[in-house]
Amino acid sequence: MSNTPFEKLTENIYRIPIPVPFPMKYIYCYLFKEQDGWSLVDTGFNYPEAVNAWKNVFEQLRIQPEQISAIYLTHFHPDHFGLAGWMQELTGALVYMSKVDIIMAERVWGKNSQQSDAVGAIYRQNGVPERLAEQIEENMKKLSEHVQPFPSLTILEEEEVRLGGMIWKVISVPGHSDGMINFYQPEKRILLAADHVLDKITPNISLWPGGSANPLEDYFSSLNKVAALNIRLAFPAHGKVIDEFSERILAIRRHHDKRLKQMFSLALRDQTAYEIAGKVFSNKQLSPHQWRFAIAETLAHLEYLVLNDELMKTERNGTIFYRQNTEKSA
Ligand SMILES: [Zn+2]
Ligand SMILES: [Zn+2]
Repeated sequence: MSNTPFEKLTENIYRIPIPVPFPMKYIYCYLFKEQDGWSLVDTGFNYPEAVNAWKNVFEQLRIQPEQISAIYLTHFHPDHFGLAGWMQELTGALVYMSKVDIIMAERVWGKNSQQSDAVGAIYRQNGVPERLAEQIEENMKKLSEHVQPFPSLTILEEEEVRLGGMIWKVISVPGHSDGMINFYQPEKRILLAADHVLDKITPNISLWPGGSANPLEDYFSSLNKVAALNIRLAFPAHGKVIDEFSERILAIRRHHDKRLKQMFSLALRDQTAYEIAGKVFSNKQLSPHQWRFAIAETLAHLEYLVLNDELMKTERNGTIFYRQNTEKSA
């Protein structure tokens, strides 16, 4: 087994690439050396390569699992949350997450989850053909096998936490998930950005059953929130470390503005979210997994436009259509 090539960022902070079976290849988890043990931010997706990578990291750093005393999760997505239960069984550590994302984790990954059916139902209403809706449901059910065992979760209520011997502020940044958190260290001006701000990739902003009615609006406010901090370096959960943070935020904002304009112009006549997604993402052949995100992302933009009076939404025979709002008051 080859060594997991982690980076030592400072005396007490390690950036650990844990493999994920998705195009982004790795999730970067952050390991902090404390006076009396270790703390961890995010865990990975539960499949053999990720488990082996962790075992190797513990070996290289001579960490006994029981020395890990706190596990913080930035949000409930499977690439961050998936190994939390395994890691908890191994270490006995408390697993902290925001209250909002604990509720969402239970809804999506809990024992009697109805989330894949709920997604299927909404997708059919939004014009997704039956066969594709079924594939999307199956795909979601398979995904949840990699998010087991379900950990015992503790609500992260503190406004500050100690990581690597420093005090970090817990910053709530809803958008990519409703309960997403970042950690900010004001003296060093560094941010653990999770999936809130990424280099190159634009974080996926999606509308899901049980989630915010306007995630894109939430996301824009959260971008403003971190833009106001004077960040020198941001450590994201995927991709490279970001040293030009404000420029990256502006580029992400421009991407969404462009996409909002594009979707608005595509809704000249009644269109379903599925039809619009097909046109916006027409450059590539999408798998059911990619269709799921393409549609959820399209819905987030369309609903933003509806809530800003730019589009109108109507329902006919159980199908939802979006169209430019010609009655908009000037
Ligand atoms: Zn995520
Ligand atoms: Zn992620």
